[in-house]
Amino acid sequence: MGAWSLYFLAKAGLYHAGSIGFGWIGNLLFAAALAWPLRWPWARRARRWLAWPVALGLLYHDSFLPGPERLLAGLGGFSAEYLWELAARAVNPWVALALVAGVAAYGLLARWVPFTVVAFLGILSVPAVAELGAGPAAASAVHSAAAPADPQARLQAFYQDESRRKLHLPAGGTPAFDLVVLHVCSLAWDDLDVVGERNHPLFARFDLLFSDFNSAASYSGPAVLRLLYGACGQVRHGQLYRGAPRECQLFPVLEQAGFKTGALLNHDGEFDDFSKLLEYRGGLRGKVQVSRGAPVHMRSFDGSPIYDDLAALSAWWRQRQGQGGQPAALYYNTVSLHDGNRVSGSDTRSSLASYKPRLHKLLNDFDRFIGQLESSGRPVVLVMVPEHGASLRGDKMQFAGMREIPGPRVTLVPAAVKLIGLPGRQGGGPLVVDRPTSYFDLNSLLADLVADSPYGARARPLSARLGSVGTTPFVSENEDVVVVRNAAGGYRMKAGQGAWASYAF
Ligand SMILES: [Zn+2]
Repeated sequence: MGAWSLYFLAKAGLYHAGSIGFGWIGNLLFAAALAWPLRWPWARRARRWLAWPVALGLLYHDSFLPGPERLLAGLGGFSAEYLWELAARAVNPWVALALVAGVAAYGLLARWVPFTVVAFLGILSVPAVAELGAGPAAASAVHSAAAPADPQARLQAFYQDESRRKLHLPAGGTPAFDLVVLHVCSLAWDDLDVVGERNHPLFARFDLLFSDFNSAASYSGPAVLRLLYGACGQVRHGQLYRGAPRECQLFPVLEQAGFKTGALLNHDGEFDDFSKLLEYRGGLRGKVQVSRGAPVHMRSFDGSPIYDDLAALSAWWRQRQGQGGQPAALYYNTVSLHDGNRVSGSDTRSSLASYKPRLHKLLNDFDRFIGQLESSGRPVVLVMVPEHGASLRGDKMQFAGMREIPGPRVTLVPAAVKLIGLPGRQGGGPLVVDRPTSYFDLNSLLADLVADSPYGARARPLSARLGSVGTTPFVSENEDVVVVRNAAGGYRMKAGQGAWASYAF
């Protein structure tokens, strides 16, 4: 096997450090194929060449990198500059150092140490440790023995419960306010912590803050569908792309309740067919606008323009005020915080380093937009809800900016509501909903506000309406990975057809 033993030892080490998965059967077969004595020189030569693609493929499979489809889409669309930045982030200096040390040790000791045997022991240490109950993969087995229901059964029960939830809005009335939903790409509580902005003054201006709101998705596409299908309970990831019945689609439901619905993007909406998703899946057909009149304040990771948020929102508001009395419900999407954006005039900075100034600009833009709404004197319910986090910090399994595992650092996001046109709460500061919540709970509050206007003379205060806000246990999903939170507050994850494992990040 020669130096290939290093490959298996390094991967077993990364597995035990919690950085990658390790399909031990596949690795064992590959190791056996490499160690098998071959008589003919041509066969040995062929094996030497074939080993490389197999080794890379197996490593890719064992890593938590995004699946091939997403990766290829990225490689095709990302600018060279952004790809370089991603590659630099993927290299962990400590892992690189350990690899160099490993190669040096191999060079020195290969003559005396039977490395092939050591490599097989390394591979077999993975199932052995799991069997002993100490490894990452075994934690779930220990847990499910202790708890009455295993995570799989609890997940089934979750989806069963969720399938029974459906919002009821009064049809055919005239709501007493306009509704603006600010859907923000790449903003999680954890990102705010990383840049020290958890207590940004904007949050104090809201009337209600959800401190444990789960976006349930870590990519924009599914996050949009989850928000727009939020008139019903949470569905499996796979079901999202099969569409949703009309009564589950938030904006058509709002339309029935008397709103004139529309959507506005601060980007061209072409990446990943974002606009088409809104139009053909999200119930906003023919209603999606791009704020092309606003100045371009950044370039996206694929070079496309990103328009200034305040200018875009102000222009929409001016236009809306010129229209008649029918209440408007706007879906607004901003990618100003997305990874890989280039701010004009500061091209030398990495997109991670520019996150904080971009965040300041966005939150200040929202702040000033709220000021404009307030000074217009019209009643507006403003909702801010992020799509998912930026993964600024990354974790043991995914480098900064990667979001393949929809863990709590990526999907716990600051959702907030402001009732514009009402005096702020006595005593200041927002009410905080700290139970686990998601879209349906937020939308239940909206339904309550539509059914019983908060702007009437004897309206119930917001605090009296929190009973209409339910709770949704933490379940987040991507195409291939599910993450759930258990009763003790710990997280478990399942990738593909693999076993449940504890997710320590
Ligand atoms: Zn996004």
